[in-house]
Amino acid sequence: MARIAFIGLGHMGGGMAPNLAKAGHEVHAFDLVAEAVAKASEGGCSVAPSAAEAVKDADVVITMLPAAQHVRAVYENDVAPNAKPGALLIDCSTIDVASAREVGDAMKARGFEFVDAPVSGGIAAAAGGTLTFMVGGTDEAFKKARPILEPMAKAVIHAGDLGAGQGAKICNNMILGATMIVTCEGFVLARKLGLDPQVFFDISSKASGQSWSMTSYAPVPGVGPDTPADHDYEGGFAAALMLKDLKLAAEAVRSVGGYAPMGGEAEELFQRFVDRGGGAKDFSGIIKMIDDSWKVPEEQK
Ligand code: NAD
Repeated sequence: MARIAFIGLGHMGGGMAPNLAKAGHEVHAFDLVAEAVAKASEGGCSVAPSAAEAVKDADVVITMLPAAQHVRAVYENDVAPNAKPGALLIDCSTIDVASAREVGDAMKARGFEFVDAPVSGGIAAAAGGTLTFMVGGTDEAFKKARPILEPMAKAVIHAGDLGAGQGAKICNNMILGATMIVTCEGFVLARKLGLDPQVFFDISSKASGQSWSMTSYAPVPGVGPDTPADHDYEGGFAAALMLKDLKLAAEAVRSVGGYAPMGGEAEELFQRFVDRGGGAKDFSGIIKMIDDSWKVPEEQK
């Protein structure tokens, strides 16, 4: 069993770290938010007083942070100066490909192994140990990372070299952002046409309109499995983070000289939702904005 430092115990990390402890690993957990650390402690992790203390003597360091600037700062200031040489570093945050490569190369140059390993699945999968990990790095680093990630996963897939995990994640979330919006539009339209939302769910989740947004994450309260919609769109995957991912996708599209109008439209709509104060709500809460916009008289739209 390994000694693991886990940094970033938010919606996702807070579910993931206890699954490593349950699997028998010695997990030293740290977050800037004291309540998050206390929760990880209840889940069987040891409390570290700082990120620097958490990574000292760790065989493996796992980070689950909001965005690239946090990842750069934690690896530069906390991990690199304090982790033991040869430690395996696994960043599970969703960030841009270029930052993942830069941080990974910088860590490798200082004698560490590094993989980018973003996840798909949401908070229920984080808590339930059923995330999908998409891993970028060498064959050797992947072989070492796989057994560490398995207690948190339903699938651990080697996407390619450093940065490939982030590439796969960004493409996946561009699909997710757009399908969630059109799923919301489908539910709003179904109701306007007099359909019961549960009946529409029963039909569409077994017909060709089904997707993860419909079947596993239905954006309407009381319909389908328990989702953030059943908790006033609290918890889950913050709309601000979805907007971040759609911006990463737009940047990636530009970097290859491409054109992705659906992804671009999804970015614009999530930007509008965040500007109206929806950033901390689950991303499926965009259904409220869509619903409200249908109440505005045609000439004012
Ligand atoms: P979150 O904001 O809930 O959690 C991030 C945590 O990192 C916070 O608790 C914060 O206090 C902590 N943190 C920030 N800087 C820190 C530092 N310097 N040292 C220690 N802790 C620090 O975010 P989340 O929803 O858990 O998402 C984390 C990452 O996973 C993001 O990159 C997100 O895009 C990605 N992701 C989220 C979901 C989801 O459903 N929430 C799904 C897939 C991927």
